[in-house]
Amino acid sequence: MEEENIKNFIEKEKNSTRRVKAEVIRVEKDYILKKEGEEGLEKVKDKMKELEVDLDFEKLNSLTWEKEWKNSAFIAICKEVFNWSDEDIFEMGRNSPRASFFIKTMIQYFISVDTVFNNVGDYWRKHHDFGELEPVELNKEDKYIVVRKKFFQTLPVMCRYHAGYFKGVLEFVIKSEEISVRETKCMHKDGPYHEYLITWK
Ligand SMILES: [Zn+2]
Repeated sequence: MEEENIKNFIEKEKNSTRRVKAEVIRVEKDYILKKEGEEGLEKVKDKMKELEVDLDFEKLNSLTWEKEWKNSAFIAICKEVFNWSDEDIFEMGRNSPRASFFIKTMIQYFISVDTVFNNVGDYWRKHHDFGELEPVELNKEDKYIVVRKKFFQTLPVMCRYHAGYFKGVLEFVIKSEEISVRETKCMHKDGPYHEYLITWK
């Protein structure tokens, strides 16, 4: 059933020109290698070939761009092939900002939760040539942040992935074991955008 959704998505999006930094996909590939081994990555590649997602994993570097639909399809295919839970996808997203030299270089300027909050839009644009990440509210006293991801509708799996990603970024500046991220509005559930509430203790 899920595979059917992925197929439909690929059919619909394969001419889309929206792009993501290739580095993002490289980091995800390394995560698969670490977690599932060479064999696991081969399984994913086979499935991608079957579904006609043409992605050369050897040619991903930090300076180039790749079609975003391939990234979303790749992550959804990983979830299918390894029978991952939503939590596994969350962890994959959480790992990404920590695992990339390119991304870390950018994050080192994020010295506080304020700088993260004020720069999320810019950060997003460095990784995507479409969509938007809007900082809505930062409340340090009550310890929460609200952000909106707009004009980004690929596959629902990306909602969990980005939730994990946001946690991964905030872990650089918030020293708490209890950062949680909840999606409170979603374009896949008739929302006008995706909205995330991030809280910590
Ligand atoms: Zn969503």
